[in-house]
Amino acid sequence: MTTESELSATYVLEFPGGYTRTTGPVIGRFLTELRDARIVGVRTADQRTLVPPLEYDPHTGDPVTEEFVQVGPAGTVAEWVWVQAPRKNHPLDRPFAWALIKLDGADTTLVHAVDAGHKKAMRPGLRVRPRWRAERIGQITDIECFVPDVTMIVSPVRAEYTITPGRALTRFLEGVRDGVFLAGHCATCDKVYVPYRISCPECGSLIAAERQVSDTGTITTFAINNLPDPRAPQVPFVSAYILLDGADTPMIALVGDVPAHEVRQGMRVRAVWLPESERTLAMTNIKWFAPTGEPDAELEN
Ligand SMILES: [Zn+2]
Repeated sequence: MTTESELSATYVLEFPGGYTRTTGPVIGRFLTELRDARIVGVRTADQRTLVPPLEYDPHTGDPVTEEFVQVGPAGTVAEWVWVQAPRKNHPLDRPFAWALIKLDGADTTLVHAVDAGHKKAMRPGLRVRPRWRAERIGQITDIECFVPDVTMIVSPVRAEYTITPGRALTRFLEGVRDGVFLAGHCATCDKVYVPYRISCPECGSLIAAERQVSDTGTITTFAINNLPDPRAPQVPFVSAYILLDGADTPMIALVGDVPAHEVRQGMRVRAVWLPESERTLAMTNIKWFAPTGEPDAELEN
């Protein structure tokens, strides 16, 4: 994590008004593109991409080329420091992070604010993208801040999605909107993966077959949580790995309609769906899983 002293150095790099004072061709191009909601970097003689662009390669001191390339707009947080009490001249009036962000396609990092909501949401490797101002005038502040890519999905589930392409997640969420669980079936391994995915994590094959699996399943492992969660009915609540009937991989979900101390491995559960009219393209369509009352299942492993 960046220390305070390092932070104040990087802070000076970005907001001193130096951009307006030295609007040479390189910086000028960068700011002009910002006004049009694009971020560009400049190529160095050895083909690295500097973002923000500089007129001279800081490594070699050589002038940069005249080649500009569009980068991002999404990127990855390299380092960050949390600002709990923003000052008057800060870009946000609520707690935020100053972060070094490596935009996709760039070889250097850009300093900017990340509106992550909470310090716990920040981590190296966090994917972020810019939130543009509606009215842009050709300043670095045309980007109001960066925001994390996905914020509304409970994090253990999100961790699974980062290894699946967006198309697979979208398809899975379409199913969830319609009240069904879509799985991917690998013909090579004969395994059924939930959530739906388009490549097999075991053999790497492309998954062509989509399957609908049951909304009933068995709790394989679970955790009792004592910290409040906006989606949970009460504290303590239970989150569990649930092996849906017909699936070979478990999915993470909340367990409800049962006291936390009664939840057990092997317990049979069924998804409790939001009313159809309230559903969106989101995991929150599933309120939680509730006991079916069937006898416990035998767990193989
Ligand atoms: Zn496979």
